[in-house]
Amino acid sequence: MTTPNMHYADLKDSYLFFHIARKTKAYLDAHPGTHLYRLGIGDVSLPLCKAVIKALHEAVDDQALKETFHGYVSELGLPELRSAIAQHYRKRDIGLSDDEVFVSSGASDELGDILDLFDRSSCALITEPAYPAYVDANVIAGREIVHLASGRENGFLPSPSPDTKADIIYICSPNNPTGAVFSRQQLKEWVDFANANSSVILFDAAYEAFIEDPDLPRSIFEIEGARKCAIEICSLSKTAGFTGTRLGYTVIPKDLIRKGMCFNDMWIRNRTTKTNGVSYIIQKGGAAVFTEEGQRQIRGNIEYYKENARILMCALDKAGIWYCGGKNAPYIWLRCPNGMGSWEFFDYLLNEIQVVGTPGEGFGACGEGYFRFSTFGSREDTVRAAERLIRLLGD
Ligand code: PLP
Repeated sequence: MTTPNMHYADLKDSYLFFHIARKTKAYLDAHPGTHLYRLGIGDVSLPLCKAVIKALHEAVDDQALKETFHGYVSELGLPELRSAIAQHYRKRDIGLSDDEVFVSSGASDELGDILDLFDRSSCALITEPAYPAYVDANVIAGREIVHLASGRENGFLPSPSPDTKADIIYICSPNNPTGAVFSRQQLKEWVDFANANSSVILFDAAYEAFIEDPDLPRSIFEIEGARKCAIEICSLSKTAGFTGTRLGYTVIPKDLIRKGMCFNDMWIRNRTTKTNGVSYIIQKGGAAVFTEEGQRQIRGNIEYYKENARILMCALDKAGIWYCGGKNAPYIWLRCPNGMGSWEFFDYLLNEIQVVGTPGEGFGACGEGYFRFSTFGSREDTVRAAERLIRLLGD
């Protein structure tokens, strides 16, 4: 008889956003026609920028003619896109060669697939609160998971301690959900820890483009020693609105070697076995993001979300609510007022002012009592939600 992967039975029964969708649907069923102010799920609301749309159209036209048609493209990514991404890093003084960059269909896919590079017996350390997929991908793989909690006392930026146990270390900076960003010094502690313990850091940089403070690192490879211990996983989803278009990239330095095995070589072997690459059309659209015009246009969209963040932060200031994030990240992480629990606060906001956010408890036990607002919504909804928050919580 076939034995399925029994670790699926170890997964928590329902996913955070599924639960939120169920509760909001129940509310709408009971209050038909009500408008909800959605500051919950992290999808973007602005369309792709003009430079990307133009490149996508041109790539579609390429596929219409025998002379310009492309069949399979390299599983590792279009050379011009790999080169544009490596160049993007080099502009920030991070020395990468083009073949250390791998094009992907997005960070989520990579965060799951990359686990193929590690033995089943490796233990995964997850700095929490965390994006729920880190835990679930490791549960499915049957790995031991160490949850490293953080809180207000360390600014939601935990440090390793000498007794920390970890083969694979997940770090997300800017963090989803807290919006907290590791400083160079704090990341250096993790890099030194990983090199001393032969661990590997999986650095999720999905929100790097939102960092505005020039002193904060946007890549783990700004930290000395990281080439020997880190993989960086990045995405154009939030940077350039590719949530529905799907494109990301992963950086694996050739210096990352454990037990004589080079992770860059292993990933080449993995990709050439398990994928036939990302769509030519989408990669051409992605390449446009890295042009001067594309960069200018995506900055415009990021600025729009940053203004949403300022509007929400101003409302929370007026309401006297503690929060972090928002400045260098598209998420604001706040303390639920009056000792409310995360789900209790969720229900309170939904029922009283029709604002939908994300309960912190869904990102790990240490998120209980906290709440996340996303700044990716429309300006109209954000302004109205901010007014309602001030009205509800303001005194
Ligand atoms: N990593 C983090 C921290 C995220 O918040 C998300 C999406 O919300 C992802 C990865 C997934 O990004 P993608 O759309 O590229 O799969």
